[in-house]
Amino acid sequence: MSLSFPTTSTASAASTARRRFPDQLRPVLLKAAYARTNQLAQLPPLSDPDDRVAAAHKACVRRILAEIHTALDRMDAGTYGDCVTCGGLIPLARLEHCAWTLDCEPCQRRR
Ligand SMILES: [Zn+2]
Repeated sequence: MSLSFPTTSTASAASTARRRFPDQLRPVLLKAAYARTNQLAQLPPLSDPDDRVAAAHKACVRRILAEIHTALDRMDAGTYGDCVTCGGLIPLARLEHCAWTLDCEPCQRRR
């Protein structure tokens, strides 16, 4: 007697995984965008142009916010989860750790 299971090809499993990323991580990105936008709004204006720590902090929050928006745009375009450098799939664990990352770990290390 043989048991039969519905079989899925590797390709369709991969595309299912790819499509699942946005559903899972869109709320994470939206929440992060909301938090960073609030954070930026609450940062005091740079009263001292020589305050490099405050300027760097603000620039960092702005950069992360831009990366989050890029990730959301890529979700809409259907390219979210693809490494921008090598085109490979970014592992879900990495996206769960940082939902707006644009490249896989080996590519990021090479940068
Ligand atoms: Zn890569």
